[in-house]
Amino acid sequence: MALRHAPQDGAGESPAAELPRGTAMADLHTHTRRSDGVLEPAELVRQAAAAGVRLLAIADHDNLAAYRELTAPGAAPLPPGLSLVPAVEINAVTKGLDLALLEGELHVLGIGVDPDDEAFEAAIAAQRGARRARFTKTVDRLQDIGLPVEAHLDPSIMESDDALGRPTLARALVAGGFAESVEDAFRRILGHGMPGYVSRTGMGPLEAIRAIRAAGGLASIAHLAEAPTRRQLLLDLMDAGLDGLETHHASFDEETRRAMSATAVELGLVETGGTDYHGDLGPYAGSHARLVMPEDVVARASDALRTRGWPARP
Ligand SMILES: [Zn+2]
Ligand SMILES: [Zn+2]
Repeated sequence: MALRHAPQDGAGESPAAELPRGTAMADLHTHTRRSDGVLEPAELVRQAAAAGVRLLAIADHDNLAAYRELTAPGAAPLPPGLSLVPAVEINAVTKGLDLALLEGELHVLGIGVDPDDEAFEAAIAAQRGARRARFTKTVDRLQDIGLPVEAHLDPSIMESDDALGRPTLARALVAGGFAESVEDAFRRILGHGMPGYVSRTGMGPLEAIRAIRAAGGLASIAHLAEAPTRRQLLLDLMDAGLDGLETHHASFDEETRRAMSATAVELGLVETGGTDYHGDLGPYAGSHARLVMPEDVVARASDALRTRGWPARP
């Protein structure tokens, strides 16, 4: 693997000791403009490093473009002290599992997948195709129900798969005056069961987990707050290779974090955590301030990634 990482020691002027107490040193779940986030990858990395993050995973939906760009030969060096790990988030369709409560989707993070694994790239390329088809169908559906968003979409949007997700449509609904905010657009129009909702197609969670594991990644279920009451589901997913659980999503309150951690420990799952930063709520630092990820959790997640070869040595 032709990979690079930033120097680990001595090169930066902001060692951990100077960071405010409780600063999360890792963020294993972020998004950029290479999927439905707002920031360019280089800008996200800059803001995350400035906020005190030392281990960062960009987990764009169905693609590793941000990682590839940031580590390509000739790319600007990463901020001193920051290590970047390749990752993806796969929004799996919950076919074949009894997941009525989960709005038809289970999000699977693949952290530390091999960016040069061709079979994995083919699998996520197929996901991108399904995403594109759903996007077009949703635009048509919105048109049919009297919400013509097309005029509020960047005309070049279909040229790449980068932004073809519901957050983009939510922003267009806001721009068109059809919704008050991205949140409002999801709640009333684009959310599961709402008039602008089109079902997803593509990989199921078991397939997603197997694909991630086959590519050497840590497979972690994202932001599933009901995990503590879904033990059997987790066991079924573990049979397919699930080895992580996002116990420290920035949206979780302390009680949820505690219950999630207890579940992960009981089942032997690696705890992961992240902001799930997209950029709609302002600069990265604001989301990072809400991320609680104790040092021992970061240390165990780092160890799990290290056994998979991440961060990569130059
Ligand atoms: Zn998600
Ligand atoms: Zn996410």
